[in-house]
Amino acid sequence: MSSVPAEVEAPISGNGPADRPWRRRVEVDRSQVARRAVQFAFLALNVWIGVQFYHFVRQFETGSAVAAIARPPGVEGWLPIAGLMNTRYFLLTGEVPAIHPAAMFLLLAFLTASILFRKAFCSWLCPVGTLSEYLWKLGRDTFKRNFRLPRWLDIGLRSLKYILFGLFAYAVFSMPAQAIAEFLGSPYGVVADVKMLNFFRYMGAGAAVTLGVLVIASIFVQNFWCRYLCPYGALMGLAALLSPLRIRRNVETCIDCAKCVKACPSRLPVDQLVQVRSAECLGCLECVAACPVEDTLHMTFAPARKPVPAWVMAAGVALVFLGVVGFAQASGHWHSAIPDWMYRELIPRAHEYAHPR
Ligand code: SF4
Ligand code: SF4
Repeated sequence: MSSVPAEVEAPISGNGPADRPWRRRVEVDRSQVARRAVQFAFLALNVWIGVQFYHFVRQFETGSAVAAIARPPGVEGWLPIAGLMNTRYFLLTGEVPAIHPAAMFLLLAFLTASILFRKAFCSWLCPVGTLSEYLWKLGRDTFKRNFRLPRWLDIGLRSLKYILFGLFAYAVFSMPAQAIAEFLGSPYGVVADVKMLNFFRYMGAGAAVTLGVLVIASIFVQNFWCRYLCPYGALMGLAALLSPLRIRRNVETCIDCAKCVKACPSRLPVDQLVQVRSAECLGCLECVAACPVEDTLHMTFAPARKPVPAWVMAAGVALVFLGVVGFAQASGHWHSAIPDWMYRELIPRAHEYAHPR
């Protein structure tokens, strides 16, 4: 007689070794609770940074005599090109740049998180990724499904983000250090963050229509922006190829139910693979949460084949972020070396500064 209780042993039908007994998972999976907690904490942090930065800018636009509101350096997380430029500058000169240094440290934090925990930046931290995820979930709940593009179109579009990243990387990594210093020290470079804020505040019709199309597409197609267009996500995916963490399937116990595939927002064929090595794997653990069979699908530390619990990923991603930001602050490289008088002069005229050639 089997020692497995009747309620956890059941034959199912389907492909492969589906007619053998299988053991249902009894432990409640809390990976998505942990991920949502990290996602919303980071989203809240970004909202706070946005509000703080808006008030920082307004005080100079309204001619306030005293700069009472400090600029939150975290806004530089929204300046990925400045992050790339400053990383290039640091690699060339060995010096931490004076303008927008936080952009470089945040890029390094997110790259480190992706190298250690797969593309966890996209699925655990990025506020755009979070909004994108809840848009497709809204679409799925409303229309009972998300749409999938034909495979040929999906593959073609997926390459777009790598092409975009390649173009940005080529432009930045062909710049000498002097040109980067001049660019970031120009009025345009100094107020690049203000110009970005103004892009959203005074959005033109073309940009508003484009944004609207992206939002609507994201309701119907899972992670439309992230999957096809985001060059930052492309970089994180390439970094994730170095990660020692991988989703691993136990082929001995897998019952080929395909629940992992249905749950995977990147549409990876988890049920066909032993390990998921793809640059598209977000490290979101949705597949692990969906798997009904005990000890069958895990995020694992590949060299030792040891399962990595969700709380380790949550704590690890948070530690990397806080550790790098803490280091930048403690070493005095977190704030841009821009005095208030310069902001007072440049911010009200930010709309006049064009991209230097
Ligand atoms: S394979 Fe799993 S962890 Fe990777 S993207 Fe798909 S659902 Fe997320
Ligand atoms: S969810 Fe995927 S890994 Fe788990 S039993 Fe079903 S097919 Fe196998």
